[in-house]
Amino acid sequence: MRRTTAPPTSAPPSNAAPGPADATGSPADGEVAPQPAPGESSDAFAKPRPGEQAVEAAQARQKAAAKWGLTAAPLIAPPPPETKPRLTDDRPQVIADPGVPPVLRRVPTTDKVVFLTVDDGAEKDPAFSRMLRELDIPVSVFVSDYLIPDYGYFRDLAEQGVAVHNHTLNHPDLRKLGRAAQEREICGQQDNLAEEIGVRPRLFRPPYGEYTPETLRVAASCGITAVPMWNQEVFVDRIDYRYTDHRFHPGDIILTHFRGPTEWRGTMTDMLRLAVREVTAQGYAFARLEDYL
Ligand SMILES: [Zn+2]
Repeated sequence: MRRTTAPPTSAPPSNAAPGPADATGSPADGEVAPQPAPGESSDAFAKPRPGEQAVEAAQARQKAAAKWGLTAAPLIAPPPPETKPRLTDDRPQVIADPGVPPVLRRVPTTDKVVFLTVDDGAEKDPAFSRMLRELDIPVSVFVSDYLIPDYGYFRDLAEQGVAVHNHTLNHPDLRKLGRAAQEREICGQQDNLAEEIGVRPRLFRPPYGEYTPETLRVAASCGITAVPMWNQEVFVDRIDYRYTDHRFHPGDIILTHFRGPTEWRGTMTDMLRLAVREVTAQGYAFARLEDYL
């Protein structure tokens, strides 16, 4: 599992002489641990100090950013909240009714973070998954089965830490369907994703953002705990802001789609470049939606 938003979980190498049992100092298989010469401090053989590691990590991030055509590396998100925010009706942009999953357009947080979500699944661009990995950008994806004859691309994304969530089997307007048909679309995709990806999603996003009270009851019945919508949308050449200030806000959920040059004038990586540039320029970091919901 790749690290996304959290700081390193392993303790920094100690400056005291590391013993053989020190996991952070143990050599890789087949290597012989260097032994300090008599009278020489073993510090000379310690890993770089945390300060040096931070500098190296920053340089690596800058290099990755330059590779993908960015002048500034994405900002590093603060550690995930220890307790997830309450999704109650008194929170702005949250609709929470008893017994059904809350629907939200913005995650209640004061952290300077936004969340990138990618819908549907038609375009399966390997460069996009590489760019996500190299820039360490967390995303959450909401996939619709009819666009995905083969889930290999999404299994690979899942392997690199991307959570794959439910966007129905056939992408219908759920307002036009009765309960049984909604069950097939939502719960059917729950079962399908559990089988294809190996994880049963907790999050669901209705196609077109349209739903009825029945939709939420059905989603609850097959394990959905939250329904994240969006309040900003990014394309290859522009960002559609919901608010007239044309700015991001803490907790904004950004929508984009798995689309390619046949649907828009550019690629997934063009879209991500624009998103990273703007989000970073406004002082925000991308955080992992599942850490907050
Ligand atoms: Zn969709």
